[in-house]
Amino acid sequence: MFTFKGNDLGNKRTILIAEDEFINREILKTILADEYQLLEAENGKKALSLLLEHRDDVSLVLLDLNMPEMSGLEVLKEIEDDPSLNEIPVIVMTGDKKEEVECLDIGASDFISKPYPEAGIILARVKRVIELYEDRKIINYAERDTLTKLFTKPFFYEYAIDFDAHRKDKETDAIVIGIRSFHMIKERFGPDFSNNLLLDFALRLKKMMPSVNGMVCHLEEDSFIVYCAHIDDYSKFLNQLANDFYSDKEKQTPINLQMGVYQNVDKGVDIDVRFLRARMALERIKNSAIVNISIYDSKLKEKALFEEQLIDEFPTAIKEKQFVVYYQPKYNIKGNKPCLSSAEALVRWIHPKLSMISPGNFIPLFEENGLIQLLDLYVWQEAARQIKEWKEKFHKVIPVSVNVSRIDLYNPQLLDVLKDIVGTNGLENKDLLLEITESACIEEAGTIVGKVEALRKEGFKIEIDDFGTGYSSLSMISKIPIDALKIDMIFVRNAFATENDNKMIKIILDIASYLNVPTIAEGVETEEQVKALKELGCDIVQGYYFSKPVPALEFERFIKDAK
Ligand code: C2E
Ligand code: CA
Repeated sequence: MFTFKGNDLGNKRTILIAEDEFINREILKTILADEYQLLEAENGKKALSLLLEHRDDVSLVLLDLNMPEMSGLEVLKEIEDDPSLNEIPVIVMTGDKKEEVECLDIGASDFISKPYPEAGIILARVKRVIELYEDRKIINYAERDTLTKLFTKPFFYEYAIDFDAHRKDKETDAIVIGIRSFHMIKERFGPDFSNNLLLDFALRLKKMMPSVNGMVCHLEEDSFIVYCAHIDDYSKFLNQLANDFYSDKEKQTPINLQMGVYQNVDKGVDIDVRFLRARMALERIKNSAIVNISIYDSKLKEKALFEEQLIDEFPTAIKEKQFVVYYQPKYNIKGNKPCLSSAEALVRWIHPKLSMISPGNFIPLFEENGLIQLLDLYVWQEAARQIKEWKEKFHKVIPVSVNVSRIDLYNPQLLDVLKDIVGTNGLENKDLLLEITESACIEEAGTIVGKVEALRKEGFKIEIDDFGTGYSSLSMISKIPIDALKIDMIFVRNAFATENDNKMIKIILDIASYLNVPTIAEGVETEEQVKALKELGCDIVQGYYFSKPVPALEFERFIKDAK
């Protein structure tokens, strides 16, 4: 939100007069003092320091160009270069026409010529410039979300700061509330239904706000943020919110909510950091079907610090080759004896102080901030170099699959980069297999189809990773030309858990046969699992039963055994 300086309480707006001539200051004071509060500076330096001190109160600067210590032009440049000042309008005062133009170019809003025109003209100009700037700010700040009519984030944050000012010593919570599987609801019932659902939910939240002395904002499609007095019982709050509220009206399926809470916020940290913490808490339970409330705690704080450290150290780690690629064999189980078919390249960070860091700790982080593109490139180069080395040593090509992140698919150079890596190492495109996670296929499926088609046209082989967890629809996945489906290990694990229920695996194998592609089962740990998967018709398996991912040198024993 943007509060008017000087504000609705009838206070006067403040003008800073920067003018070295005493008599000129007196004239301006006589004209303006009735309607405005005035600050005065007799040189440029003082003007700037006063402005910095009162930046939140000053509505306008009247700036003389010829002043000692620091000229008006220099002051103007400083103002324009400082984001915390450059929204404050400046009227320059000069007798020189050439200077007027120069100042308007730099960013002055208007000018008043010297000697001064009559009082009425000065008052009118001052009033007009202040109004214009305030109007523009109003336009720039859309206060309400068009769909839910709740506050938009910038306004919400400003109100939250005001809220703090009135409740200085009171305990306050920052909360993020997410609607679980909202994308599925949208997919199933369409945008009208899901928009209505959001609208109803927003209304419900808004109605509940007085009881918790809070305020709410629609953050993104499926999430809302609440800033309120500390709540003692979060389950009660969440239950009230969900009570008799249906995400599937026909089946009366209750809406499923999750909530991340940063309770008793530290008011010394920025408002967006407070909600970032609440979001971190929510992220922690995103994949849980049971837990619906998560509270930011010291563990998450440590995690945030650890992640910061990893991001800081990433460039050095790449430079010093601290990232090491491990290889895990994949075995074809179609024949009598399992037969080595390829390997998957999985990166590890061999950190000089923290020893080995597994990818689960840094891949999601780097996916979020884009560093993954650099890391993936590094891994692809490393893997291709390794295939070449083995080819020369064992006179045999062991294809290696590399992981391709969602964000890599948006790189227009992707195909050229991959071709270059393969070419440099004297390999064929089919030797470097590409694993693309299923969840990448649901976003902008059109773009992905085009990308994958282009890659396949050039001979690259595409494996869909983590299949079964990405919510892609059959029609979507059947549009993407692929070479293999990797069944996510969760299905293998569940299939051989207590109930021995292999229904899901059968469904995935059916889909694979419909798509006419082979399947790879991940996370296969026991002989019993290998046997069962073989019987069900799975083609390739990968997992601890054969080997964990190992360094390249250790992997060589699988190549030797396969000879
Ligand atoms: P993923 O691609 O699904 O890789 C399979 C993960 O399962 C690997 O974890 C592997 O070590 C583990 N795994 C293999 N067999 C078994 C088993 O029998 N039992 C169990 N419990 N686990 C098994 P890892 O190496 O920790 O990698 C985790 C994830 O990190 C990978 O999942 C992949 O998504 C990502 N990742 C790893 N390296 C890279 C990379 O270079 N680039 C990108 N973009 N992602 C990578
Ligand atoms: Ca993979």
